[in-house]
Amino acid sequence: MDEANDRAAWFKGGSTCCRTLPAPPNQLYRLVLLGAPGVGKGTQAELLCARFDICHLSTGDVFRAAKQLSCGELNPELERALGYMRRGELVPDETVLELVRQRAQCLRCSRGFVLDGFPRTVDQAEALQEMLQGESLALTAVIHFTLPPEQIVARLSGRRTCPGCKTTFHMAMQPPQVNGICDHCGLALVQREDDQPESIRVRMRAYEQSTSPLLDFYQNRGLLISIAADSSPVETCQHTITSLTAAAEAASPV
Ligand code: AMP
Repeated sequence: MDEANDRAAWFKGGSTCCRTLPAPPNQLYRLVLLGAPGVGKGTQAELLCARFDICHLSTGDVFRAAKQLSCGELNPELERALGYMRRGELVPDETVLELVRQRAQCLRCSRGFVLDGFPRTVDQAEALQEMLQGESLALTAVIHFTLPPEQIVARLSGRRTCPGCKTTFHMAMQPPQVNGICDHCGLALVQREDDQPESIRVRMRAYEQSTSPLLDFYQNRGLLISIAADSSPVETCQHTITSLTAAAEAASPV
């Protein structure tokens, strides 16, 4: 593959940029997705990326990909980060910021991006703002997905993922055709370590303490759009696009 079109640059942490051509008019989106674990941010990120043809930048995916590396390939910092992740705790800001800085070319992508799982603390949000300002870039919007707590727990405990193609299923709401088996590649589905009940509780606390203060941070900057994530993924995505369009129209001079 041509290096300049390498959509895996985010995972590899290389210096290449996947896009060089500018986005069509009114189609440049630089988005941050916020919401408690289990609210469906990852699914919404995939749908928005497919719709706008932009990049899905998930810090959680980079950490999960690191889990597949052999011990020799993992640096001590990343190894420690995986311990935090297994317990459902947030990885320290310095480690996360180093990981994002190594991938800063993805923030410059000429088509835009969806940041999923980053920033997760006010310090991370301030660092992101500095990185973007340094490149004269700005976020388009920050989407906050909301869902009642009991629905969040039901979503998380039934979630299963394919270890091969990463497709996500839900045992009750979106079951695979054959119980426990991926529809696409036939591998046995697994439950994420951090979707176990104890890790879920820790992740919820981390969200309340560290990530929810970000709502004020972005509200004060006029970037926050709240979306109820209680309908189907496609409907929720459509509501998001409608709200983004309305916000863009409200912001543009008549
Ligand atoms: P996610 O897939 O976004 O839920 O992330 C899975 C796990 O990766 C989290 O529970 C954290 O342990 C870690 N992680 C991902 N992104 C961040 C971040 N921005 N700050 C701290 N920890 C993170």
